[in-house]
Amino acid sequence: MGNTPFLDKLSSTLAADRLLTSLDECTTFATDWTKIPGRAIAVALPRATAEVQNILRLCSEFEVAVVPSGGRTGLAGGAVAKKGELVLSLSRMNHMGPVDAAGRNVRVQAGVTTQAVHEHVAPAELTWPIDLASKGSSTIGGNLSTNAGGVRVVHYGMTRKWVTGLQAVTMQGEVLELNQDLQKNNTGYDLIQLLIGSEGTLAVITEATLRLVRRPQHVMTTLLAVNNLPRMIELFANAIRKTGFDILAFEFFSSRCLETVKQKLNRQCRLSVQSPYYLLVEMEGQDSASLKTNVEDWLEEILGSGFVIDGAIAESSADKKQFWSLREGITESIALSGPVKKYDVSVSVNKMAALIADVESFLSSHNFHFDLYLFGHLGDGSPHFNLLKHSKASAEDFEKDATLFESRLFELLKNCSGSISAEHGVGLLKKDWVTFSRSAAELRLYHSIKDAFDPKGLLNPGKIVDPQK
Ligand SMILES: Cc1cc2nc3c(=O)[nH]c(=O)nc-3n(C[C@H](O)[C@H](O)[C@H](O)COP(=O)(O)OP(=O)(O)OC[C@H]3O[C@@H](n4cnc5c(N)ncnc54)[C@H](O)[C@@H]3O)c2cc1C
Repeated sequence: MGNTPFLDKLSSTLAADRLLTSLDECTTFATDWTKIPGRAIAVALPRATAEVQNILRLCSEFEVAVVPSGGRTGLAGGAVAKKGELVLSLSRMNHMGPVDAAGRNVRVQAGVTTQAVHEHVAPAELTWPIDLASKGSSTIGGNLSTNAGGVRVVHYGMTRKWVTGLQAVTMQGEVLELNQDLQKNNTGYDLIQLLIGSEGTLAVITEATLRLVRRPQHVMTTLLAVNNLPRMIELFANAIRKTGFDILAFEFFSSRCLETVKQKLNRQCRLSVQSPYYLLVEMEGQDSASLKTNVEDWLEEILGSGFVIDGAIAESSADKKQFWSLREGITESIALSGPVKKYDVSVSVNKMAALIADVESFLSSHNFHFDLYLFGHLGDGSPHFNLLKHSKASAEDFEKDATLFESRLFELLKNCSGSISAEHGVGLLKKDWVTFSRSAAELRLYHSIKDAFDPKGLLNPGKIVDPQK
């Protein structure tokens, strides 16, 4: 720990329980789900926007870098304090205002978890439609800063569609009150949309007004075993054309993912048949009787196709929970299995099968020291390639192979106009590859925008792009 004058001043402005300085706490808060080792000078845990203002002003005065932090479930290292920064955790800013049923929105502080928002608005028969496996820990500030996707993007789109107002604090300590929760406001540049997805590099989000939607009433969940990937995409095209239901989620995973979830998390699968791929499809209908008939008719049609080997419908909420636990347990079960490299790429749905076939053919022509775990959001063209190190391979061989893999993956992505990150963001991990997805002209503007918000370069430094030399 260093910089005593700064810490003295900080501790004189924050209550004792809002500043952590022990090595253990600083080490824990300095990293996220990536487990990239970090080092923080201290952790500040404000409860109010005014405290965030004071902290950021002090950081500017003493030229101390700051890392905004939420639930630390990020998968790109965006919340990692790599160089002894101050971690500014919003996790204690967790107040939620009343639900505005007519305006269909709710104002919340940034540290509220995604799940807490869902639970808070459910009695009004509304929901905030961003749903992801990390929802119990991920926060609204983190969701907005990463523009999180999740399992319902196919129906609702990404986080940026579901925000109508934002409060954020700049490094100068100015509070920006953006958009006043209006549905319509065509008065120049949209700073809300600029801050969403900026991964804590431009300003610290302190509050947000979230746009809500009617909670789906009649929902059915199915689990399907499918024998090949191009057919799964045909199946998706077929399902979204159906008139008897709307697709809420269309998720896929490979048999290797399923086996790992079963083994590591002791989960059960209703389907006994072995298949290369599985699909979890969730559908909403007008009423439960017609939805049931339409889903059963669809299942009968596709089970007769020859490529859907088996299928099951969730008959109860326990079944539904069990189906989802297979999909939602994948990230955790792989993490429990050893060192892993993650690539959450994006490609248009109609190019996804070709991309995956090219990746698989590249893998089969090499003797790599890892296995591929493939899963993701099929309905919005977002496959997750996870490489799990062979247990006996050395860390060095794994790194070397992963580097070779990623250069081929990104080349393939460039050829099909894909993106190196669909939803997890750039953070620390994907900084070197941003040029695959963004042009030199775009990156020049990135630097100008960063300078305008944070001229001293103190806010989440080294994330998304490095400062210009
Ligand atoms: C099991 C699992 C499943 C996941 N599934 C998905 C998925 O389906 N889709 C998806 O998109 N992501 C997924 N993620 C990734 C992660 O949950 C999301 O990126 C989430 O939005 C991060 O929220 P957080 O609060 O944990 O943010 P953190 O990890 O704490 O931070 C993420 C970034 O946001 C910044 N930040 C945090 N709070 C603020 C704030 N108040 N103001 C400014 N910047 C801030 C941080 O500096 C960092 O750059 C998953 C992660 C796990 C572990």
